[in-house]
Amino acid sequence: MIIGVPKEIKDNEARVGITPAGVKTLSEAGHKVLVETNAGALSSFPDEDYQNAGAEIVGDAGYCWGKADMVVKVKEPIEKEYPYFRDDLVLFTYLHLAPIPGLTNKLLDAKVTGIAYETVRDRQNTLPLLTPMSEVAGRMSVQVGASYLEKEKGGRGILLGGVPGVPPAHVTVIGGGVVGTNAARIALGMGAKVTLIDLNLNRLREIDDIFNGRVYTLASNSYNVAQATREADLVIGGVLIPGATAPKIVTREMVSRMKKGAVIVDVAIDQGGCVETARPTSHSNPSYTVDGVVHYCVTNMPGAVPHTSTLALTNATFPYVMRIATLGAKEALRKDPGFAEGLNTFAGKITYKGVADSQQREF
Ligand code: NAD
Repeated sequence: MIIGVPKEIKDNEARVGITPAGVKTLSEAGHKVLVETNAGALSSFPDEDYQNAGAEIVGDAGYCWGKADMVVKVKEPIEKEYPYFRDDLVLFTYLHLAPIPGLTNKLLDAKVTGIAYETVRDRQNTLPLLTPMSEVAGRMSVQVGASYLEKEKGGRGILLGGVPGVPPAHVTVIGGGVVGTNAARIALGMGAKVTLIDLNLNRLREIDDIFNGRVYTLASNSYNVAQATREADLVIGGVLIPGATAPKIVTREMVSRMKKGAVIVDVAIDQGGCVETARPTSHSNPSYTVDGVVHYCVTNMPGAVPHTSTLALTNATFPYVMRIATLGAKEALRKDPGFAEGLNTFAGKITYKGVADSQQREF
């Protein structure tokens, strides 16, 4: 099979769909990989590494898309890429079609086989191609929070781990899923006092087990959230109700009662945020202050660490890339019902119910 890896052209996207390691594995299996010039440069994977792994470096995006049986990307195609669609193309990438009917129409018109990372499921019924980005964002949230707690950045001027004779900072993590668990792990590692709040008591039992009781767990209710946010130097929001806008767990009033110079990192901002005063920010202008509390609400946190994010993402996506390359898309999807859930468009039809429903179209 010929696999195309174009350079991402969506604003601020520095990740790449396949690493040199992936190219090597594909090449050794007899596949040909076309990598667009500088596709991996912003993730610190230079063309030379791809070439050494067996890729052909191509200067023209149209050639890369046009010659490939399968294109492996990171973000959904943007308008400039629509002319590359055709009926014998397999496109494997994040598609997030629900809110983009324009892209959906183009994929349907051209009869592209569109397989979306975000709807692939594994045997445990989780979303394995979304998890790595939550891991990155969760770990990053503490690093970012620690930096904003410094005086220079508007914070209280408190060191997360304290020092002998001076108590550590108090970190409150709301939501104990992938983001929350990873945040708790890093906060604990940096020596902070960590409280984690979740609605799911079984999850709190698991957290208690994982961290051997070193993370304080609290059931989620407004009394506990009010108290834990009031005591916190750093609050991390990682709540998710799948498919829905995040509930506002931390109210405006709770924020107004927090310590001056405390920091909120609302990771759940991509689903609207779980803090009432949170609004989406970007890497170029990441923070603002409300009632003396610094807010960091960047919607694509993993974008700040594209090398790590690319490796984390491709670790998860590559086995699926390999299966499509080996078996062909049809057989690879037929053999794995969870993988088949990734199919969003096929032969001019929407094949994922969530997308059809959200666009009020036929399924
Ligand atoms: P997850 O499903 O693994 O975890 C969510 C947790 O929230 C679950 O444990 C659930 O029980 C808990 N929860 C639900 N309602 C709650 C409530 N009322 N109070 C307390 N806890 C509650 O999800 P995740 O992978 O950890 O993702 C969390 C959020 O982070 C999502 O919105 C995700 O899209 C987002 N995210 C953002 C970025 C970014 O760059 N900003 C990156 C990755 C993920």
